[in-house]
Formats: sequence, structure tokens, C-alpha cells
Amino acid sequence: MIEAVVFDWGGTLTPWLAMDPHASWRAYAGALHPDDTDRATEAALRLHEADLARWADARNGHRAFTLAQVVADALLTSDPASGEHKAALEAYREFWVQATHTDPQAAPMLAVLRERGLRLGVLSSTPWPAEWHEEWLRRDGVLHLFDACVWSSDLPWTKPHPEAFRAALDAVGVSDPARCVYVGDRPYDDISGAKAVGMRAVLVPRSDIAVHEQVPVDVAPDGVLHRLADLPELIADW
Ligand SMILES: [Mg+2]
Repeated sequence: MIEAVVFDWGGTLTPWLAMDPHASWRAYAGALHPDDTDRATEAALRLHEADLARWADARNGHRAFTLAQVVADALLTSDPASGEHKAALEAYREFWVQATHTDPQAAPMLAVLRERGLRLGVLSSTPWPAEWHEEWLRRDGVLHLFDACVWSSDLPWTKPHPEAFRAALDAVGVSDPARCVYVGDRPYDDISGAKAVGMRAVLVPRSDIAVHEQVPVDVAPDGVLHRLADLPELIADW
């Protein structure tokens, strides 16, 4: 019997949207150096490269990171949350808001699962702070439907590291991983990671993931989902 369902966030609870991360750093750098285009352009490039390097480290070594670390790597500043960086961070966040909207099918689907007595959670590999994510989930009327949300920006590890999945199992209060289903859009991070700790895994294959972000993996999900609305039926007999 299933006791809990844990969801990936980007590309799963939020529909995939093609975004240009370099443009998000141009927004950051433009707010940081509003009167110096050359300096802003150079800072944006450094931030983008630092971001790519941190993501490569996450892919290769599953090491989690935060936005503050990216800014520190790129600009050698010790406190990106203060002073002029505050406005820059806000410009960066504003850029990404368009990609944060929860799939309209999520709320009714989550309500059905809750009615069955299932515990619900989120596990996301993200450099963004928990409060950003939780504000977006609250805006879309779904935050209260989750028992626990785990963001890798609060962890040492990203998916597919087993400790990230164990943190999510602990957070939703499930001791037997086989009684927990993980739902995600990435075969390596989500499906291979969940299955490696003994969870069941459902793939939502609707994200156009960049080739450089893909890690080839030989793993089969326990189920495939094209619409979030179909999840309650898919796992009804699990
Ligand atoms: Mg995802």
C-alpha cells in the first residue's frame, strides 16, 4: 500500500517553459550596475558561467548549491543578500516568475490523493530559497496540500543522491521507501534516483530538457504520466 507521493517541482508540478538562464543573470547584473552597460554585461557572463559550473557539479557530484554561492563564485562578494545585491536578486527573481506557475491540474489531483489519506511532498533540486518556492505554491493555492517540501538549497545534496530522497521520505514520514511514489520529469535525477532508494517512480515525459543537462541512464519508470490529472487513477491499485 502506498502511503505518500512526492513530486518534483520544475517541469512536473510546473509545466515546462523554455527559459534563457543567461538572460536571468543579465537582469541581475543590469540591476546591479544600472549605469554601466559594459560592467553589467561582464558580470552577467561571469554569473552565468558560475551558475553553469555549479549545475555541472550538481550533475556530476550531486552537490547542492544556493544562489548566494553562485553570486559569490562569480562576483567574489561575501553577502549577496545585502545592499545593491538585494535589488539585483529581486530583478533575477522577477525574471523567473513566468516559469513558476503551478499546473492547473495539480490542485484537484492533490486533493484527490489527500482524500485517500496519502501524505504529499515536494523534493526539488534548486538553488532558489525555500521561501521563494513556497510563496509561488501559496500564490497558486497548493502549498497547504503538501505535508512537507524539501528544497536542495537547504540540503548538502541534489537529486539523484540517495540522501536527497531520504530527506524527502523523512519529511513526509514514510519509513518504507516502497510505500512512497516519486513523480518527476527527468529519467536520471528523478527516476533513477527514486528507484535507487527503493521508491516507486512515475515519469512525466513532457519537458524539453537541454542535451547538455541530460545524463544517459538505463532505468524504467513504474508508470508514465502525460497529464497530472491522471495520477490518482495510475496509482489507484499500487
Ligand atoms: Mg524537474
